[in-house]
Amino acid sequence: ASATDRVFNFAAGPATLPENVLLRAQSELYDWGGSGMSVMEMSHRGKEFLSIIQKAEADLRTLLNIPPEYTVLFLQGGATTQFSALPLNLCKPGDEVDYIITGSWGDKAFKEAAKYCHPKSIWSGKSEKYTKIPEFDALPQTPGAKYLHICANETIHGVEFKDYPKPGTENEILVADMSSNFCSKPVDITRFGVIYAGAQKNVGPSGVTIVIIRSDLIGDAQPITPVMLDYKIHSDNNSLYNTPPCYGIYVCGLVFEDLVSQGGLQAVEEKNAKKAGILYDAIDGSREFYRCPVERGVRSRMNVPFTLEKGELEGEFVKEAAKEGMVQLKGHRSVGGMRASIYNAMPLAGVEKLVGFMKDFQDRH
Ligand code: PMP
Repeated sequence: ASATDRVFNFAAGPATLPENVLLRAQSELYDWGGSGMSVMEMSHRGKEFLSIIQKAEADLRTLLNIPPEYTVLFLQGGATTQFSALPLNLCKPGDEVDYIITGSWGDKAFKEAAKYCHPKSIWSGKSEKYTKIPEFDALPQTPGAKYLHICANETIHGVEFKDYPKPGTENEILVADMSSNFCSKPVDITRFGVIYAGAQKNVGPSGVTIVIIRSDLIGDAQPITPVMLDYKIHSDNNSLYNTPPCYGIYVCGLVFEDLVSQGGLQAVEEKNAKKAGILYDAIDGSREFYRCPVERGVRSRMNVPFTLEKGELEGEFVKEAAKEGMVQLKGHRSVGGMRASIYNAMPLAGVEKLVGFMKDFQDRH
């Protein structure tokens, strides 16, 4: 396959990866760096893989400007595993924690936490079909809550926090699921106690979960915590307590290197803002032929959900787009409609092609 054979893949995750990263991985697949083997065959404790994971971490630290008092972990189990790891590591069973629920993922995180502590939903957008983010001032935060949890970008509903709420008290921390907007823009890490993200949207293949945690929060897990969920075990062992997802970490490293060479996350954010702007303008300028249900100020730059006024045409839209090399535009089964995920690696050309197709489709219908 050559570049011209590749589709524009609008999937929500696993998602499109940068072409140059794929080609580099291809060129290094058979013999990584003259080692005589592929990354998949290396010992995770050998000097070659150690150099790979250390470089990945260093580049991620550069990208997000991660302060030294924060630990970076490369884990497994997806963001879903973090839904339980968080309360297990940060709470005693009797502790209270707050969740702002702006979509299905935040809701899943909240429900899982209830097994290990006392989570409270202090705001939910469910009755408005998850199209909003609350004002922060009036939130009924629980005094003494251990943490305040948000999902920074709801992948299914397309709502994204543009700013972040403050935890209620000095000892409370802000925790964010950044799975679907990780490394899409600069983030002030110091505002968070924990950030976690599955890799398979913006930074690599599935199988790698990244946790960035303020180091003083590590080491007080509940006794029932499985070793694989205990941040201290992973931190003490530099993410090499057991066999890590070596190849996935290697690809994440290639993506981080690519993002650094693009000029870092400021430059990446500008590109993402431009792509999202073009797509939302096309939707808003369609005289209601296309509609995005999300409140304007909190629309996601990563996942753009939209419906067709003539709902019966949605199947045709998806099919015709696929014929033109634009795939995975069907919305999540729980909400229907369409969804275009336009992560870092979606080229501007992909969004321009989609918008051109949307206009043409509208003209014909
Ligand atoms: N949180 C968010 C925001 C997600 O988009 C997803 C995956 N789509 C998850 C959590 C769950 O991630 P995983 O499949 O890696 O467990």
